[in-house]
Amino acid sequence: MRIAERLLLPSPCYSFEFFPPKTEAGQGALFDTLRELKELEPGFVSVTYGAGGSTQRGTTEIVSRIKHEVGIEAMAHLTCIGHSKDELSGVLDRLQGEGIQNVLALRGDPPVPPGGKRATLPSLFQPEAGGFRFSGELMRFIREGRRDNRWTFCLGGACYPEGHMECPSRDEDLIHLVEKVSAGAEFLLTQLFFDNAFYFDFVQRAQAARIRVPIVPGIMPITNFEQIDRFTRMCGATLPMRLRLQLERYQNDPDAVLQLGVAHATVQCMELLSRGAPGIHFYTLNRSRATRMIVTALKNARG
Ligand code: FAD
Repeated sequence: MRIAERLLLPSPCYSFEFFPPKTEAGQGALFDTLRELKELEPGFVSVTYGAGGSTQRGTTEIVSRIKHEVGIEAMAHLTCIGHSKDELSGVLDRLQGEGIQNVLALRGDPPVPPGGKRATLPSLFQPEAGGFRFSGELMRFIREGRRDNRWTFCLGGACYPEGHMECPSRDEDLIHLVEKVSAGAEFLLTQLFFDNAFYFDFVQRAQAARIRVPIVPGIMPITNFEQIDRFTRMCGATLPMRLRLQLERYQNDPDAVLQLGVAHATVQCMELLSRGAPGIHFYTLNRSRATRMIVTALKNARG
């Protein structure tokens, strides 16, 4: 099913994001997790696209297996990093050949050199020769492939309630988001956030800018304080002070951190859904426990 169509249905669309494991044991564990999560009737599952060749091939293989073996709708992420147009065409042909209907078209982040820092303002990102600089260019390219029926994907894009790290202002970031939607994004998934005010304000600004596609909030259940501290620094998301202090207090008690993370995310999701979010996209980090607890609570509470 095309995700844009699923998002129009009245029931909330719960989706789960995974990354391709590096080992066979990791793959086995991932498919066990997916079979468990299938009981929660996810609208779709998505698989990230890394900078290395083996994890890139892993994305295509895994989305195909999720769709055809596990029987859950699956979306492949695809990034411009390190790819010429011809290489991107090759990946898209393979995905089309595997019957994949949904692609999250991204610019991606260049790999960070050991001891190096991620690009912030001004962008250090340099496109591959004959490649693309922005996700909008990739989307336009994929959309052009629709004319001759080479590719028929439903396209999603990323968006940033707190603004993208490299963009000088949220207003400018929104202008680029409008371009991304006109280039072909039929739905948007947000960067993770822990304070719903960022999402509601962002949706309001997007609507004022005439963005009409569904904007699905991205939620990462906190299960480890150090990890979340690192992620939020990397992607520029705010960890609210009250939550940070609670996490710091319990950081040496993994079970308490899990309970706190699940409680915070459940309250976030309840409010997001009750105020009109079309679903929730969970950043699972390939673990199912916290996500399962949250979705079960949401289903029980909402019927
Ligand atoms: P873009 O839309 O190209 O935007 C990048 C920057 O350029 C922004 O600052 C934007 O304002 C600016 N910009 C856009 N268009 C223009 C223009 N025409 N002129 C000037 N400036 C412009 N990364 C991965 O490597 N693999 C993944 O699988 C992956 N999955 C993700 C999933 C989600 C839901 C999200 C939110 C992010 C994901 N990322 C992933 C991270 C993402 O690749 C990074 O955030 C990256 O820095 C930006 O990607 P983008 O597609 O939003 O880029």
